[in-house]
Amino acid sequence: MNIINVGYRSTNYYALEIKNGKLLFDCGWPGTMPQFTAELKRKGITPTEIKYVLVSHFHTDHAGLVQEFRNLGAKFILLESQVHFIKPLNDFHKRKKTPFAEIFEDGNLILKFEDSRKFLASIGLSGEIIATPGHSDDSITLILDEGFAFTGDLPPRSLVPDEDRITKESWNKIYSHKITRIYPAHGNSSS
Ligand SMILES: [Zn+2]
Repeated sequence: MNIINVGYRSTNYYALEIKNGKLLFDCGWPGTMPQFTAELKRKGITPTEIKYVLVSHFHTDHAGLVQEFRNLGAKFILLESQVHFIKPLNDFHKRKKTPFAEIFEDGNLILKFEDSRKFLASIGLSGEIIATPGHSDDSITLILDEGFAFTGDLPPRSLVPDEDRITKESWNKIYSHKITRIYPAHGNSSS
């Protein structure tokens, strides 16, 4: 699997090779499309190669550029648990008057977790998407059968206090798969 980190401003964004293009896992920081585009080009990717965008959760550094990629022709995939998180993010940015492109609620591909494996297979990825709440209720993890987990902002497993049962359970779910490498949204990947 060709995983290209196209991150900047201490956030990792991952471009994954799929049939006929790339899937982008997270894309953030409103108003930074020129920087993102430059970073993609530096890594040999044309922005229009991004066919799908998936976000770990709806915080501004992870979902800040979704609509701008949609405008370039990418399809936005969101999980059933994430649907109601678009509006709060849109409202937040409207209130703050940031350079955020409002995410359209229609025209997206809404996936059930149980259908994620089939969908990923259809675009050439072998894996699944699971709900991993903890950092936020809408947080998801993309698992590739090669042993890779893209965990977004889920706090590192070793730092989760025992009383945080939700996050602990999310890590247990992740490690019920054969995992050899974790790709977090901040910091380095680790085995
Ligand atoms: Zn976050």
